[in-house]
Amino acid sequence: MVRHQLDTLMQMCERPFSTDKSHATDANIYYHISVGVSCFPKDDNEVTGLLTKAEKALDYVKQHGGDDIRWYDEAIESATAGSLELESELRTATIEGQFVPYYQPKFSLETGAITGFEALVRWQHPTRGLLKPVHFINAIIAHKLSFDLFSQLAIKIVKQLSVWQQQGFHQHVCINADAAEFSHPDFFDMVSTLLTENGVAAHQLHIEVTESSLIQRHDNVKKQLNSLRELGVRLALDDFGTGYASLSYLQEYPFDFIKIDKSFISNIETDRTQHAIVKAILDLAVALDMQVVAEGIETEQQRDVLLDMGCKIGQGYWFSKPVAADVATAMLIKQNASK
Ligand code: C2E
Ligand code: MG
Ligand code: MG
Repeated sequence: MVRHQLDTLMQMCERPFSTDKSHATDANIYYHISVGVSCFPKDDNEVTGLLTKAEKALDYVKQHGGDDIRWYDEAIESATAGSLELESELRTATIEGQFVPYYQPKFSLETGAITGFEALVRWQHPTRGLLKPVHFINAIIAHKLSFDLFSQLAIKIVKQLSVWQQQGFHQHVCINADAAEFSHPDFFDMVSTLLTENGVAAHQLHIEVTESSLIQRHDNVKKQLNSLRELGVRLALDDFGTGYASLSYLQEYPFDFIKIDKSFISNIETDRTQHAIVKAILDLAVALDMQVVAEGIETEQQRDVLLDMGCKIGQGYWFSKPVAADVATAMLIKQNASK
């Protein structure tokens, strides 16, 4: 690639969300540019070798969120080797059903009663033990396995809801979904068939979408979210306040819940800025007739401050860490017994 082309691309990468209105149409055009570069003769003497290395650098950029430029180097070579192994393991995991939902209860801050659960994926890795999403979720997205992961978890979660229902526990479970998953043409049919086949009401399933994944603007997201909402599935905007278009997402998509990210809760007892931001989110939710869930409550004091501010539902390590299904069931049984 000649130098001036590269310079132009680098400039474009520095402003990935620019909107070109020079060709006056009624639609905004969004572009994302990822670039991988290899250098002759440092990286290779042959054209094919140079292209392979530039592609490896490009894959690396895409796996790390895209919208960037990266020069090939040794670090990329070893990351790519690891990535190939991880991809093959992830494909086996999706076929063999190694992903399991852990359940973190959400509580009424007022009464301490469980109001529902958030399902958080764990990978029961054959040799490395139980892995948290930080170790594999980006690779799942990069290798386009999000829909397989979602389907596998949704089946397990809806079956669990059905079991709880038979035991007299009418709970709801929130499942996390990356916006990429909504682009899948079978997404809506899969969810609605699963609910019908297991006799689970749509309002017992909530779907949490992170702000960061909405930035990618995948096709169909809005249409799919509207269809799910019409079906009765409830929708939550996760990690609210951490992206760069939080307010516009509230306007654009039909969310029922806002989840306040734990970064706004961590010092809420003492930090005036955090306090003011959370207060503003709570006021906004009242005005928009939405419900709020506070994430990452780690102390009783944080619970008390949030309750005083009018926040009604929360989750966090102070109440409970995410637990396996049998432990979650035991919590429900214990709660029922103490009524
Ligand atoms: P999230 O949806 O915002 O989930 C909250 C994360 O914070 C979870 O981490 C949870 O274990 C952790 N957490 C809960 N309470 C506390 C607390 O009091 N203190 C602290 N420090 N952390 C707390 P986890 O399970 O590692 O999940 C991380 C992220 O991975 C999730 O953030 C979500 O964005 C993503 N994720 C999890 N499961 C799935 C899934 O099935 N599909 C997709 N697409 N993403 C998932
Ligand atoms: Mg979540
Ligand atoms: Mg969150």
